[in-house]
This record gives sequence, C-alpha cells and structure tokens, in this order.
Amino acid sequence: MTLFYSGIAGKRPGKPTFVIIHNDAGSINACASYYRSWLPNHEAELGFAHVYIAKDGKYQADDFDNIAWHSGNSFANEWALSWEVCQSMGASDAEFEAVEEAVFQDVAAAMKRYGLTPNRETVRLHKEYSATDCPHRSWALHGSAINAVQDYFIAGIKKYMGADNSSNNEKPVQPIQPTKENSTMIYAFNVQGQGATYLFDGQKTIVFAEKTSGSGQGPRAWDHYKGTYKEVTGKDLPTQTKTKEQFELWNTLYPAQFIKF
Ligand SMILES: [Zn+2]
Repeated sequence: MTLFYSGIAGKRPGKPTFVIIHNDAGSINACASYYRSWLPNHEAELGFAHVYIAKDGKYQADDFDNIAWHSGNSFANEWALSWEVCQSMGASDAEFEAVEEAVFQDVAAAMKRYGLTPNRETVRLHKEYSATDCPHRSWALHGSAINAVQDYFIAGIKKYMGADNSSNNEKPVQPIQPTKENSTMIYAFNVQGQGATYLFDGQKTIVFAEKTSGSGQGPRAWDHYKGTYKEVTGKDLPTQTKTKEQFELWNTLYPAQFIKF
C-alpha cells in the first residue's frame, strides 16, 4: 500500500477516449479542500479520481495525462478521465445539482481540450464497469437508468461545450441564481393565450424549454429554479399574467431567451 501522490498510477497510454462522472458518497463536509488534505494521506490503491468538485471549488488531484484508479476496471482507469461530484450525502437536491453543474462545466472544458464529443459512448457511468451504486445520487435524481442518467450528463455537458468561443450566441443562457437580496426582482409570468412560462430574473427574460431526452422523469430546470427560490427566500416564486400587448412591449425591452435543458 502506498499513499497517494500525483502520477502514482503512471502515464495514460494515449489520449483519453471517454469520461466518467462519479458521486463520492461523501458527507456535506467532504469539500474540495477536504480532499486536498485527505487524499495525500490515503492509500492510493483504495482509489482516487482526477478531479474533485464541491461547493468550495475544484481540486485537481492528478493530471489528465496520468491514469487514475477510479473505476475498479483497468480499461476504464486507463482511458477515462474522472470526476467526483462531492457532497453526495447530506446535500440538498439543489446543492447537489449545483455541484453537478460545476462538474459539467469542467468536463466540457476537458472534452473540448481532447476533441471529444459528449454522447453515450464518451460519457459513461462507473456502474457500467464494476459492481457499485456509483453514481448513487445522480442515479436517484435523474431517472435511475443507465441511459437516462447518461443523457442527463450529456445534456449538462453540452450546455458548456460552446463556452469560451468568441460568439456570444453559443453561450448558454443561465438564470441569475436567487438570493435574499435580489429576490424581489425575480418573478415568473404567463402571457394570455400562450402556454409557456417565462422567468424574469431581474435582468433578462428566460423561457424554460423542457427536457426532451432521457426518461422524462428527472427534475426539470424550471422545478429546480422554483425549488431553489423557495429554499433561499422561504417564499413561493411570485407569478403574474401579462396581456399579449404588455408582453410585446416587454419583449422589446427584455427579449426572451431560451434555456436548454
Ligand atoms: Zn464511482
């Protein structure tokens, strides 16, 4: 047994060909800073991933060009890049999903770097390679089936694949996260004669497009946003109705943008 150090598992034999997003089964206190001090005192053979992301940020434990012992399977260890979504025990759904989002963003940057396109071949689950509940929390939240969870991860990563491009049009629209301070600026509205629900987040108008892939059972961006609002402010998200004329004027001031989910 050897304590973990960067490079302990050796160099990868070639360019990575896929990614695995794990759930760490760690407590709310097992943040990135925790792993940074814990991992070097941990027997490497017991396992480690390349990247640990939690609400306090990111800890890159090993270089992407090195092998990581993260999957209990030598093929996946050699060819897959690996992330741990931390705090998978004890965090609220909203907290956990916020960390997942940060992971998707980091995965997207790595996939771009290695020329990988997110799909069911390149975005895989730990439980496809060994007997494990991992990713237990994502599994429970996003459809409890291999393809459903894969599709959720793929859609999440795709949102960030356009980031850092020079074209602003490719940047995904993200609503401003509610805080106690900005909550009075945020409300939802409907337009008479239309089915869609709009969100004004204090700066821009957003239309929530429904999730189209996967099982359809996963929590949607809209429910997530309403839940976060309630959790932060203790109140239900206010709703109003605009007439068609009011909306037309509104839309010239704050043109509605779609959020893809
Ligand atoms: Zn795992």
